[in-house]
Amino acid sequence: MKSLCGLTASEIEELAECTERHSLRIANWLYKCKPGSLMHIPDLPLKLREKLKEISYPGVLSPVSSQKSADGTMKFLFRNESGQEFETVLMTDSNRTTVCVSSQSGCRMGCPFCVTGQYGFRGNLSARDILTQVLAPEIGGKVTHVVFMGMGEPMDNLDNVLRACKVMTAQWGMALSPGNITVSTVGLMPGVRKYLDSCNCNLTLSLFSPFSEERLGSVPAESLYPAREIIEEMKSAASVKRRRMSAAYVMISDFNDTPAHLEGLKELLHGTGIRVNLLPYHSFPGDSNESSSPEIMQHFKQELVFSGISASIRKSRGADISAACGLLASGLK
Ligand code: SF4
Repeated sequence: MKSLCGLTASEIEELAECTERHSLRIANWLYKCKPGSLMHIPDLPLKLREKLKEISYPGVLSPVSSQKSADGTMKFLFRNESGQEFETVLMTDSNRTTVCVSSQSGCRMGCPFCVTGQYGFRGNLSARDILTQVLAPEIGGKVTHVVFMGMGEPMDNLDNVLRACKVMTAQWGMALSPGNITVSTVGLMPGVRKYLDSCNCNLTLSLFSPFSEERLGSVPAESLYPAREIIEEMKSAASVKRRRMSAAYVMISDFNDTPAHLEGLKELLHGTGIRVNLLPYHSFPGDSNESSSPEIMQHFKQELVFSGISASIRKSRGADISAACGLLASGLK
């Protein structure tokens, strides 16, 4: 038995040995409606429905638990058939509904400021596991934006991330605009190059510091793939395809929010067309670091904008349920 979720329309056609028209109908039902029983797929010959039921199943999981933040943010815990656990965050604003998906159960990048890194690596998620985080009945049907900023490093599981992006953006799939999908990375060059070549979705680089030696202490991937080189790659790719390139800068008080850091950011990003998202830091138990003050964050934003670099401050969401950036996997064992 094969999970339909995760397959492309042409793979469904091959699996079911049906016409293209019927495979498109099945894909549409799977990725645009709230899938239930295969017997309920509309406008499909009964024989084909029965065959599908024999050889496949929809494959969309339901979360095993959920939590709701005081600000309305929801966090869901999923568990796949192999027992891998992964968390998903759903944020609703007046005009957009964003799902923050995980690409791995845990992570092997070992960034010291991230709880997911401390949880360790439990495995890559399949494209089905990634897509289920958008399609689950508790989540699906209203998603307008997807960000790969949950558990895991997407470039470390790139084939499944690319497959998920393909299904999300295809007309036979979820038909989301590539401009509404953002993949975040600490910057693994081979993955970044392949992603930029084969996908039109947005890319965000987690920066932490404009200085290589200091970044190395927060983002170990810097030792192999320096942020400066990743930024050069993003800069040249940005001019080829229309998409948003950004840098996420988590701000920690008296760590990376000094005037020297501000100047370093300006120097690193000037003329690249890369926008900066300034994020508050979320500390975890046993961690003495604190977020930069709103005043300092505002100062960074203004100074970056004055120097010609687009910048914005991202609101903190779901911190009370450990759904905020860097806190996923807090409650997992
Ligand atoms: S910040 Fe991202 S890459 Fe680093 S450990 Fe956390 S999830 Fe992994």
